[in-house]
Amino acid sequence: MTAQVETALRGPEAYALARRVVDAMQEASVWPTPLNFELWLHYVSDPEGPLGRELHRLLTGDAPFTDATAEMLAAEFLPRGRLSEEIRDVGAVLNRELAAVAEAIDNARKTQSAYGETLSSASARMQDAERPTDLTEIVSTLSTATRKVQRHTSALEKRLESSNREVVRLREHLEQVRRDAMTDALTNLANRKTFDEQLARLCEEAETEGKGLTLAVVDIDHFKRFNDTWGHQTGDQVLRYVASVLGRISRAPRVAARYGGEEFAVIFPGETPGTVEAALNAIREEIGSRSLRRRSTNDDLGAVTISVGFAERRPGETALGVLERADEALYASKRSGRNRVTNAEALAQAAA
Ligand code: C2E
Repeated sequence: MTAQVETALRGPEAYALARRVVDAMQEASVWPTPLNFELWLHYVSDPEGPLGRELHRLLTGDAPFTDATAEMLAAEFLPRGRLSEEIRDVGAVLNRELAAVAEAIDNARKTQSAYGETLSSASARMQDAERPTDLTEIVSTLSTATRKVQRHTSALEKRLESSNREVVRLREHLEQVRRDAMTDALTNLANRKTFDEQLARLCEEAETEGKGLTLAVVDIDHFKRFNDTWGHQTGDQVLRYVASVLGRISRAPRVAARYGGEEFAVIFPGETPGTVEAALNAIREEIGSRSLRRRSTNDDLGAVTISVGFAERRPGETALGVLERADEALYASKRSGRNRVTNAEALAQAAA
């Protein structure tokens, strides 16, 4: 939750705001779950913000708003809070580790220094020693002091070993957190935030290196009808199915992402429109080639088809520009009967 929203929830308008949030959730026919409350709170407080606009787009679109949609929005638009919580936790563990290691080192240092003093005093006493019992006493003192140093050194070693293990574990955990923040939880493809960043970066690279870049947007045909007939859980499985084919065919340097509810996008850096069109048709055919089954009842769900639009970036064109043209091509695919791939360039030529 942003600081601004936190403040609003503790201000004089807090109850009125909370009521508006609940009304807005009811109007959208979603359950007032804590996550939905958080999302709608941002929507109501800042409808023109990135989350507000995306939520509005989803609510006015065809796809139903499911728990998976809420999770996806949260991953994209509320990751900072979640990420910083994780980072705070890791920071707290690291602090504890550092304090424990510092204490172990300090103890070892004190023992070493006491040992040094014992050695100097033993050396002085050796010179004055006259009887064998004097020597026995000195040796006994030395041996006790040496055992103490050994104990502390071995405790320090153990402490350092355990700290090392903890640091490795934290590093792996942070890596997982970083991966989660970049990934769409339902489909395991890149999420929209990651996709937008990659697209901006790759467009810049294409511009400076004079390379080609093609962008495709993919939408599942009649997804709302599918969800209404078979339920959200089966709808989610269909999203996973389409994502698995997209992910398989879009190996690096291609980047595939879940872009919205039932919308996906793929970046093809450095490929010609001809190879991109062939790859997209292969994806479309593979997706439509299988008849899916409903897992719970084994009902035949039929085949799922997709509509696709793609655009090759023009020199000087921004990420948004190429995205808009690919979107127009997608809608042309929808208008002309779905289950097809449309090239934005062909669309522009036909219109000229
Ligand atoms: P999942 O259910 O987690 O399955 C992951 C992978 O395990 C599948 O990848 C497939 O390789 C294998 N698998 C799972 N169940 C079966 C099965 O009954 N028969 C066979 N031959 N293989 C199976 P795949 O095919 O890429 O699918 C990815 C995801 O797409 C699946 O994840 C599931 O969520 C969805 N999906 C795919 N096909 C169907 C289907 O016929 N019905 C439903 N409801 N979902 C499907």
